[in-house]
Amino acid sequence: MIAYKFRMYPNKEQIEKLEFALDTCRRAYNMMLEELNNQVIIDKAQIQAMLPDLKICEPKFKEVYSKTLQYECYRLFSNLSALKVLKENHKKVGRLRFKGKGWFKTINYNQSGFSLESNKLYLSKIGNIRIKVHRELNGKIKQIQIKREIDRWYATIITDKKRQIICGEKIIGIDLGISNYLVDSDGNKIENPKILEQNFKKLKHLQKELSRKKKGSSNRRKARIRLSKFYQKIANQRNDFLHKLTTNLVKKCKIIVMEDLDIKQMAQQKYFNARNMLDCSWDKFTQLLDYKAENAGCQIVKVNPKNTTKICSKCGSMQNMPLYRRTYECANCGFVLDRDHNSAINILNKFSGQEMSCVERIPNTLLGQGNSMKQESLT
Ligand SMILES: [Zn+2]
Repeated sequence: MIAYKFRMYPNKEQIEKLEFALDTCRRAYNMMLEELNNQVIIDKAQIQAMLPDLKICEPKFKEVYSKTLQYECYRLFSNLSALKVLKENHKKVGRLRFKGKGWFKTINYNQSGFSLESNKLYLSKIGNIRIKVHRELNGKIKQIQIKREIDRWYATIITDKKRQIICGEKIIGIDLGISNYLVDSDGNKIENPKILEQNFKKLKHLQKELSRKKKGSSNRRKARIRLSKFYQKIANQRNDFLHKLTTNLVKKCKIIVMEDLDIKQMAQQKYFNARNMLDCSWDKFTQLLDYKAENAGCQIVKVNPKNTTKICSKCGSMQNMPLYRRTYECANCGFVLDRDHNSAINILNKFSGQEMSCVERIPNTLLGQGNSMKQESLT
């Protein structure tokens, strides 16, 4: 399957309906969880059978597309199963917790209840929503996942077309920076190639040449072509670097945890100048990573960058880390680690610390198999 993510522009009424669907899913999830939390053995058929009962108790549930709610049954089952696996591996895990208001950010339309025509996405019980389809779809649509990201709405459209890259198995945290482009939680480092900086002298020279040539002259035209070709060369080098990097990450990982760069960039603005900002091209990196991850079935999790450099990844205590200090030396426990490696572990921990990493994933078993998923019991 391939996934495509598009921005949607629901109107006011549609937003209300979407919000209502999100909250209804959350309530259904919580109600089912309450019933199941004290049970020892749970099978999927039982979870499914609970839905009609819920609709009798809460007639408003009928205002949400039935398969969307049913999907929450699967999700709950998938979470409970994942919890079971963690327990079997002797990981310390609690039980699933109830989801507070605003926690649910996605709803799903699986197999039916939707249609897509040029720039309108029809969703059952919601209506025709304006959508910007900026890429051509390949294959037949299997599932649509609607997601709220702060005040924006996105549709991830999943088709049955085979992927070109398949994601790996690792779960890593990555820290993006200026001197090291990327350091992951295993300590692997990718140096920043600083492509612009390396070519800066020649670029300045070409710009100067251009400004010296007489306006309208053929020499000026030639100088302009030389300059733009050089720009293109720099851009190609950078794209090449970013393409290789993002492909490798996705091939290796099933979950990549990174900082929310909008927040990070805002917080670090004073350390940036226009040049090294451009040389990082984090926006492009994120764009490529998101796109490749989507298609490979790898999940990108964005966490708040607050204190990721200051926390000791071993003991959890905090200390100030001015930018020049490249090594983290914990004053509390004596732990010593490369600054960025320490941050990458903290970034990963921010994710692991959240309950149940699997929750936001799309259970793969659902796609294309309808209800024929084999029943498993949970002990
Ligand atoms: Zn420490």
